[in-house]
This record gives sequence, structure tokens and C-alpha cells, in this order.
Amino acid sequence: MLLTIATTHSPATDLGFLLHKNPDNVQSFDLPFGTARVFYPEAGAERCQVALLLEVDPIGLVRRDKGSRDNMPLEQYVNDRPYVASSFFSVAIAQVFRSALSGKCEARPELVDTAIPLEATIALLPCRESAGFLTGLFEPLGYEVEAVRHLADDKFREWGDSPYYTLTLRGVKRLSELLAHLYVLIPVLDNAKHYFIGPEEMEKLIRHGQGWLASHPLKEKIAHRYLRRRRSLAREALARLVDDADDQDEVEEKQSTAEEALEAGVVAESPSEPGRKITLNEQRLESVVDALKAIGARRVIDLGCGEGKLLKVLWKVSAIEKMVGVDVSYRALEIAHDRLNIDELHDRQKERIELIQGSLTYKDKRMEGFDAATCIEVIEHLDPFRLTSFERVVFQYARPMAVILTTPNVEYNAKFETLPAGKLRHNDHRFEWTRAEFRSWAEAVAARYGYSVEFRPVGEEDEVLGPPTQMGVFCR
Ligand code: SAH
Repeated sequence: MLLTIATTHSPATDLGFLLHKNPDNVQSFDLPFGTARVFYPEAGAERCQVALLLEVDPIGLVRRDKGSRDNMPLEQYVNDRPYVASSFFSVAIAQVFRSALSGKCEARPELVDTAIPLEATIALLPCRESAGFLTGLFEPLGYEVEAVRHLADDKFREWGDSPYYTLTLRGVKRLSELLAHLYVLIPVLDNAKHYFIGPEEMEKLIRHGQGWLASHPLKEKIAHRYLRRRRSLAREALARLVDDADDQDEVEEKQSTAEEALEAGVVAESPSEPGRKITLNEQRLESVVDALKAIGARRVIDLGCGEGKLLKVLWKVSAIEKMVGVDVSYRALEIAHDRLNIDELHDRQKERIELIQGSLTYKDKRMEGFDAATCIEVIEHLDPFRLTSFERVVFQYARPMAVILTTPNVEYNAKFETLPAGKLRHNDHRFEWTRAEFRSWAEAVAARYGYSVEFRPVGEEDEVLGPPTQMGVFCR
């Protein structure tokens, strides 16, 4: 059984810190069912790859397992256990990469919380269902999935396919997330029952399923299989996970609602429908749509689309032929999916809209080829040290004809009576800029990547403090 994990995060050798395993050494770990070895086939600054090789001792297993399979004497010795990723592999991940799985790293604390480009390959993985099941397990978690099925015997092609796959997952993830996904999902694919399942296993599922399992479309099947079809345990695990997820979403929703409530006071008259009062959010969306129309954009990508507010408005603009929403949050994309009623659309309409999970701080081919990119109230959610990556991803690689970007004007915060001085509009905001700060950032970016930039106020301007929202329109 072999698992490799590679990253191109720079410097790539930081993977060694995250895993607490020095790239220069080969290390061995004795486990109850065999030996695990960790080594690095590749350890450069650009790309680093770690391998976890697990050698299961089948004879030792049989001795340990005495008496349980008396009626199948040969299967004890002739089985796929030593070669196939199975539940043993999860145990090995948990033991050998314990700190990385729980997201601890004293040497690089900020990296633990950073999503980095990762590529994991597992050889071999049993899957008695079609490859579609593998995709169904991993794609909703935001991975690009490649599953190569192996022949039963390459000398006897007529024997057909085997149930074994080599699986490659690519995605921008925290390492701890990737390990948790593998920890839970590898045993889900393993049909052999070789250890007792009890409440302890359920606790493990809850611990490692935190933050993703409750919103996974196959959550019931996953819990059911992970817990070896112990229905009551599966039910309890899911109930607890869903409760936790609701709590987390509630925290985020409360913060967003607080920002909306704050901005709700900033109403203005609609420019298109005199007499009708519109909120700041509506004013923002109107300004963005106007800018898109003026540019004549037909293919639009909404970067950090969140719950799809802008896409919902763009859907009604017939000049727009294709719209794509990108967000790092799977939960937000799910809400967007529902809001846009994507399930109800017929096939032709479905081609017009796409939601993809991705990060704006990593180069992504799917972001290329658009007339315009919008980035509405997103940059203030990025850590300042990630802005340079964001700039390159958007202006150098994705390189749309136009970029329309909005962000709060911090000067205007003085007008929000309920907002204590110095506090930002949303707990997740990493910064909020004055008009001068935004202008100097935007002008530097435009100059660096060959764009021009124009600034437009959004919302009613205060004579001294300026508008509540600032918008930059970049064109090349
Ligand atoms: N544009 C939306 C949402 C704004 S909230 C609107 O106007 O309603 C900011 C959004 O940016 C969130 O949905 C958050 O998940 C997303 N986001 C934050 N960091 C991101 C990143 N690195 N890559 C992609 N999306 C990100």
C-alpha cells in the first residue's frame, strides 16, 4: 500500500514541517499489523513529495486474528490485504501523521491553516462500485479526481478489469483536511470487515468528519460504511456532525447578518427606478452590472461568489452567455446552488452557469478565458500576505479583459453609529482600506500587469468620508 502526497506550495519542502518528517531521512514505524515507512521521492523548493509505504504482515495478521475465519483457511493467507489501501492505511495515517492530521505544527503555525496545492495518489484502492463512486466521494470535497482502473491480469486481458484503482486527487486544501478525507474515505471503500466497530470508531468518524461530512452529498453512505453498517452508530454520528455544522454556519451567518444590518441603514434611491429605495448591497450589484454592460462582457467569472447574489442578478442579463462562480467555501456554493435553482434548470440553461470550488490565491486554468472577472467584497477577506498571489492569479494568469472589484471604504465606518471606532464591518475582514490605500494598491497592480484602472463610488457619498463602498474597474 502506497500513498504519496505532493505540493508545489513554495517552499515545497515546508511539507516536511507540516508532517513533522524530515525530507532527508527514511523513517520506519512499527504498527500492530506491519511496518510503515515514510520517505521523500522528491524534495525540491518547487515541488516536494512524501511517500507513506505500508507493508502489512499477512502471517502476523492471521496469527492475531486466530479463529475468526476458520471456515476459509486459505483466504487467511491469500488475500489482497498486503497490497491494497484498506482500513489499516487509515490507522497508519493516524499514527504516523498524527500531528498533521490534527492540524498541529509549531514550526509553521500559519501554514497549518493555509490551503495549499496538493496532489495525493493512492495505489491501490479497491472499489467494487464503478469509478463514479470514487468521483462521488471526492469531487464534492473540491478535488479533481483521476481514477485509473487496473486489469485483473495484464498478461490475460480477456480476464477483464479488476476492482482495483490508482486514485489521484488534486486540490487546494489544508494538509489536515486532505488527511482527514483520506482517513475517513479509504475505509469506506474497504469491504473487508476485520476489526470490531464500536463507539470509539464513531468518535473517530465525528472527529475527522468535522467541517465536511455533514454537508457531503453521500454522508449517509459514508457513515454507514465507515461504521461497518452499524446503523444506530451511523445515525448518531451524523446527527452530532450536523449539529456541529449548524452551529458553525450559525456563527458565520450571524457575522454576515451583522454586516448586512450595519449596511442596511445606507439606503439610496435607485438610479434606474426613481422613487424606489435600494440597500447598499443592491446598489453595489447594480453598479457592477452597469459596469459589465458598459464593457459588453459576455463571459463573466465571479471570484469569491459566496452565496451567489451577483450570479442571481446576472442570470437575468441576457447579454451574458456564460457565468461561473468560484468560491473556496463548499457550504457557500451549496447555498448558491439552491438559490439559483440549478437543479430545476434544463440542460441548455445548465450550460450557462457553473459553480466551482477553488481558491483565488492559486493559479487555476478554469479561471482563464473570460471577458470580465468580478470580485465583490472579497479581497478584504484575504490575509494581506496573500494579496500578491491573488494579484498574479487574477491579473497575470486568468487575465480577463476587465476586472471589477469592490471593497469597503474604511473612512465611511465613522458613520455607522453602532460600530465601535476602529472595528471592521465583519469579523472575518483582515483589513479595510481608505480611498487612498485602495487607489495606491489598485494603481500599482494595474501598472504591473498592463491594465488601466478607474475608480467609482458606490452608494451615497459623504462629502468628507466618501462613499460606503469603493469600486475599481480595471481594463486591458
Ligand atoms: N461576493 C459575494 C461574497 C462576499 S463574502 C457577495 O458579494 O455576496 C467573501 C467570499 O469570499 C466568501 O464567500 C468566502 O468564502 C470567499 N473567499 C475568501 N477567501 C477566498 C479565497 N482565497 N478563494 C476563494 N474564495 C474566497
